[in-house]
Amino acid sequence: MVLPRPRAPLDLQQRPTPQPGAGQVLLRVRACGVCRTDLHVVDGELPRPKIPLILGHEIVATVEEGGARFASGARVGVPWLGWTDGTCRFCRSEHENLCDAARFTGYDLDGGYADYTVADERYCFPLPDSYDDLRAAPLLCAGLIGYRTLRLAGDARRVGLYGFGAAAHLIAQVAVQQGRRVFAFTKPGDTEGQRFARELGVAWAGGSDEKPPEELDAALLFAPVGALIPAALRATAKGGTVVAGGIHMSDIPAFPYELLWGERTVRSVANLTRRDGEEFLALAATMQIRVEARRFPLEQANIALESLRKGEVRGAAVLVP
Ligand SMILES: [Zn+2]
Ligand SMILES: [Zn+2]
Repeated sequence: MVLPRPRAPLDLQQRPTPQPGAGQVLLRVRACGVCRTDLHVVDGELPRPKIPLILGHEIVATVEEGGARFASGARVGVPWLGWTDGTCRFCRSEHENLCDAARFTGYDLDGGYADYTVADERYCFPLPDSYDDLRAAPLLCAGLIGYRTLRLAGDARRVGLYGFGAAAHLIAQVAVQQGRRVFAFTKPGDTEGQRFARELGVAWAGGSDEKPPEELDAALLFAPVGALIPAALRATAKGGTVVAGGIHMSDIPAFPYELLWGERTVRSVANLTRRDGEEFLALAATMQIRVEARRFPLEQANIALESLRKGEVRGAAVLVP
């Protein structure tokens, strides 16, 4: 399924199977998650996608050939971070997520909305056996970026999650199993989403316009809505952190300095490092994370994207070739 240009529907095309280059593996795609970032790319909200482009950076696949790291038939995951130069100051200081030369899967590189793809084997992850293909796919971005977002919140005990979609439903369970108190904020009036959050063990669920029953030590934002920054600051205690986990956000409205005062911090999460991926997948293997995934056939990628846009997907949407 090919994006011919921004703001156009994906187009079903027949292409020859890609050939792996040096250090690359040829992968047969088993499942590929649909991420909010894919919608930002389709909508032209991110500046420089490869065009035409095959989207998809939550790829679960089996290795067909190529590379030296994995045996043929091994099951691997391919995330958003597809390549870095390994030489810049960011790469040399464990911040490869900030590499200026980085290439991203389903953005700079063709991704997983396809039967086959190729990937640099150094950026692939082995996957825990306890998650089947459909349920492993959302771990690769929603789970992984969610994990980095939670990690940047430090040891916060009371954690608010704004936007209860693919990332929040996974990371809520991780935070609960770590013994934190979790507060879920959905779109105002989304009682179904709030019920879903409570089912997953959160202490409280309500609308993003509501005040939680306790102050938060950290707020993690997974909805691309700038107005949530002041709302989250308002709910956060002194010394607390607001972390924006998304790649794109509408403008943040002006707010009184008082909301930031008291050593509150606002920061963003950009991409991931391989270390995040290894840590999170190891953690996921030891935890029981319920992954809510809705299956769409690959050729219905446009329908899956629109369902995600309308907020009709509970948990994560996953394409299966
Ligand atoms: Zn993503
Ligand atoms: Zn670099």
